[in-house]
Amino acid sequence: MCSLVRGMVYYDCSLAFRQCDIGSFGEPMQTHFTVSPDTGLIEPAAQCHSPNQDARPPGIRPELVVIHGISLPPGDFGGPEIAALFTNTLDHDAHPYFDEIRGLEVSAHLLIQRDGTLTQFVPFSMRAWHAGESCFRGKQCCNDYSIGIELEGEDETAYDDRQYATLREALRAIFHAYPTITAREVAGHCDIAPARKTDPGPAFDWLRLYDGLSES
Ligand SMILES: [Zn+2]
Repeated sequence: MCSLVRGMVYYDCSLAFRQCDIGSFGEPMQTHFTVSPDTGLIEPAAQCHSPNQDARPPGIRPELVVIHGISLPPGDFGGPEIAALFTNTLDHDAHPYFDEIRGLEVSAHLLIQRDGTLTQFVPFSMRAWHAGESCFRGKQCCNDYSIGIELEGEDETAYDDRQYATLREALRAIFHAYPTITAREVAGHCDIAPARKTDPGPAFDWLRLYDGLSES
């Protein structure tokens, strides 16, 4: 069931992406986002609470954005499984791969689906659990000081045009809210955990992202 609360759409995450009409935001490609540094919320976006979050260390604000790619099971797009994973409601008996990740408690601040739809699982003011053991410019524990954005996808499959459009606009809003973050502070999971992670993979076109961000 969807309901409007304070102008944002909240919904039952177990039904995410199936029964929720979030089309009222219009075409994702035209969406302009705003971020409140106080609440850490981005609007307009569907808000789906993840229990997999905790407080950032005292005095720490976001200063890095980490781009990820995820699909569950790998290579399958369009289902509710990512939201289920981030809300600890995934049916781990439903697929052999889900069995492999049983007990995994993870989240990201944002998910951008193939159609460009944006969902927020964790406010930017809180620490999401997306990076794991990681290091950026000599500074470890990237979860402490980063914003994690998951793109629905996999390493070898081109990401959708609508995902680049939503990502670009979401990043612009994040840069505006947290001025120490620029395009130079946007890294891939593969960059901060190179021994463990490959996402968002060679299919992610970084130059396309940078070109989009530099457009007025
Ligand atoms: Zn990742």
